[in-house]
Amino acid sequence: AALFTLKDVSYIHRSGTPFALVALQQLALTITPGSAVGLVGPTGAGKSTLIDLLAGLNKPSSGLFYFEGTDTAAKSFKLTRIRSQVGVVFQSPESQIFEETVGKDVSFGPRQRKVPLAESRRLVQESLEAVGLPYEDFRTRYTYALSGGQKRRVAIAGVLALQPKVIIFDEPMAGLDPRGRNELFALIQALKQRTGLTIIYASSSLKDVIELVDTIHVLDKGSLVFSGTPRETLARA
Ligand code: ADP
Ligand code: ADP
Repeated sequence: AALFTLKDVSYIHRSGTPFALVALQQLALTITPGSAVGLVGPTGAGKSTLIDLLAGLNKPSSGLFYFEGTDTAAKSFKLTRIRSQVGVVFQSPESQIFEETVGKDVSFGPRQRKVPLAESRRLVQESLEAVGLPYEDFRTRYTYALSGGQKRRVAIAGVLALQPKVIIFDEPMAGLDPRGRNELFALIQALKQRTGLTIIYASSSLKDVIELVDTIHVLDKGSLVFSGTPRETLARA
C-alpha cells in the first residue's frame, strides 16, 4: 500500500497575508514505502507547504489525503499518527537543536516520549553512529561549538532517534561548504541503502537530488508540473 496518496490536494495560506494565497493547487501524487523521492522547484513553488502536509503539521484546504491507506480527513484520524512516523530535518539546523550537549539534544525526543533510559541510550548511540558522529566522542560536546555540517548531522540524529518511517529533508545542503555537502550526500546515500526509511528530499536544485532519489516531483507555482525518474526529469529539463 502507498504511504501517502494525494488527490486534488490544495492548500491556501489564509493568515499572514492580506489575501488568501494558493500555495498548492490540485496536487496528485503517491509515495511508496522505502522510496527516495525528490521535491524540486524554485523558491515559492510550494515545497515547504507540501512538507508540512506530509509531516502532519497541517491539513490540506481541500482534496484527498491518505496516510497508509487511511483518509486523514476522517473524524477519528489524528495528525499525531503522521507526526510520530515522519521526521523533518528543517533548513537551518540551529532551529532544531535546543540542548547544550549533543547527548542531551539527540536524547530529547526519546526523553519526551518517556523511553526508558537504557533504550534511549541505545537509540542515541545508534543514531549518532548512523550520522558518523561516534557516541563516546560526541555525547558531551557542546552543540554551539560544532561545525555547520556537524550541527546538521546532530539534527538528523535527533530525528533518527525517534525511529521514524519517513525522513524529510528540506534544503539540507543550504549553507554548507563543499566538504559538508559531500559528507551529507554520503550520509543520505547510506541511509537510503542501509535502512528501510522512506526519504523525501526537497530542493530548489535538481542537481542536489538527481543522484539520491528514484522519483522526482517538479513543482512550480503550487502545481505539480512533472513526475518521473531522474533520467526522465533530466531529459525534460
Ligand atoms: P517553497 O518551499 O517551494 O519555497 P513555500 O511552500 O514556502 O514554497 O511557499 C509557497 C507559497 O506560499 C509562496 O507564495 C509563499 O510566499 C506562500 N507561503 C508560504 N508560507 C506561508 C505562510 N505561512 N503564510 C502565507 N503565505 C505563505
Ligand atoms: P553526561 O551523560 O556525562 O551527564 P551531559 O551532561 O553532556 O553528559 O548530557 C547527558 C545528559 O543528557 C544525561 O544526563 C541525560 O539526561 C541525557 N542523555 C545523554 N545521553 C543520553 C542517552 N544516550 N540516552 C538518554 N539520555 C541521555
